[in-house]
Amino acid sequence: MNLLTEAWIPIQHNSQFQKITLQQLLCGEKTGELCLPRDDMELACLQLLCAITQVLFTPKDKKELGKYVTQPVSSDAYENACKGKMDWFDLDHPETPFMQIRNVKAIQPTLMDKLLAGVADGTNKSFVNPRGLGDYLCGSCVAIALFNVANNAPSMGGGFKGSLRGSTPITLLIKGNELHQTVWLNILTEETLAEIMPWYQETKTQKPNYLDRVSADSKILASCIGLNRGLLWQPAYFELLSPKPKGKCVCCGSIEPVYAGFNKAKFNYTVEGIWPHPLSSRFFSIKKGEKEERFPSFTTTAPTWTHLSRLVVDQQNEKEGQQTAPVIRQARTFMQNDKIQLIVGGYRNNQATVLERRHEFFSLAQGWAEHGEVIRRIITDGLAYKTILRKALYLFAVGIKDKIHGSGVNLCDFAEADYYHQTENWLHQCLASINFDAPDSDLKSLNFQLKKSVTNIFDKVTEPYRQEPKMLKALALARRSLHKSLKELEPQGVACD
Ligand SMILES: [Zn+2]
Repeated sequence: MNLLTEAWIPIQHNSQFQKITLQQLLCGEKTGELCLPRDDMELACLQLLCAITQVLFTPKDKKELGKYVTQPVSSDAYENACKGKMDWFDLDHPETPFMQIRNVKAIQPTLMDKLLAGVADGTNKSFVNPRGLGDYLCGSCVAIALFNVANNAPSMGGGFKGSLRGSTPITLLIKGNELHQTVWLNILTEETLAEIMPWYQETKTQKPNYLDRVSADSKILASCIGLNRGLLWQPAYFELLSPKPKGKCVCCGSIEPVYAGFNKAKFNYTVEGIWPHPLSSRFFSIKKGEKEERFPSFTTTAPTWTHLSRLVVDQQNEKEGQQTAPVIRQARTFMQNDKIQLIVGGYRNNQATVLERRHEFFSLAQGWAEHGEVIRRIITDGLAYKTILRKALYLFAVGIKDKIHGSGVNLCDFAEADYYHQTENWLHQCLASINFDAPDSDLKSLNFQLKKSVTNIFDKVTEPYRQEPKMLKALALARRSLHKSLKELEPQGVACD
């Protein structure tokens, strides 16, 4: 199956599920919303569409990009762009199959479920993965899964290399009104590439590493990896077994040729430095004058909004900083007068085990591009109220040494989870509708809601202990702490209630 010519993109249009070609999508002949039963596969499919489109068409500047966003590509232009690249995207190519190499030596084949992140782990839960997934995969789902494992998921473990972005990076994309727009909004122009990847021009003709292989044990500088090579980087050796002529894909349900397994092998190499992936923000710290960079991941159960300012706002001090994803940086130059919709996703893992998947949407109101400080303030306030609640409940549990006897009941984690649950919608709403030029009144009402939530949760979780004489002092202490901290947090000159 060739991803440039065959129908592999799973979409839903007018309640009909079908697969369409990339040409139909980019030439405006067919449209719809991506549709797969797993949200991580949907996200990976979108990333793959962006990667292929970026490889085929890299617009010169934002004017040219603007044309692509608003007008369909002509069939001639599409065919032209595919010239010389057909061998890159053929899943069953006799020599250079997509994201694979030929003649991988493995003792025994691996079953398909290993390609679906989180399915084969010991912690697999039926609510994360419907039963039956992982038996056979169609060409479309297997291409998406190969790309997902290479880019987003923890490595296969046991010495297998992870993606260029580390094991479970957070991915950021811009969402358009329609699928083809979403794809184009995440394509970088040559202008942007020259800024984020100064080696872009000289590495432009590089091929992916499954065509032009990395030699074993080599050391590769990230600044020697070109755009196409980085976007399609395959960190391990994979080779699909020949497909069976017909079967039911356990992911999308299509009845077509299906793959039942693959061979895999690790190979060793080192990449030095960080490759500036278009869809990833980067954090850095400066130690002894050296900048150390890394890609952020979801490491705790805290909701995605808590990461948002670190993902979309640039910031730097003497010791550390953060830089937003190149696609967001580019969007600041041509979407600054519009609201922006973001897709944020990734896995949370413990080594090779996937604990959680995320695929969420955020809207940022008009003015987002210039008012990073307001975005930061919203997130900081959201977190500050959570901290106040925890602090008060911590005092309730431990008291004050030699003065007030603590209750010994730790309600912090339970209350924190409840706080996140109750406030998530408000944070989303505030980010989507705030008046960035004059944010005070919107911030005030957000603070009012957050404060109300904190006091409600405090009352709710401590209620069962109000009749316990031994705990009364600790409860009074905790309540005093809560009110004092809440007062300190109120926006200056504004009473929240
Ligand atoms: Zn499928």
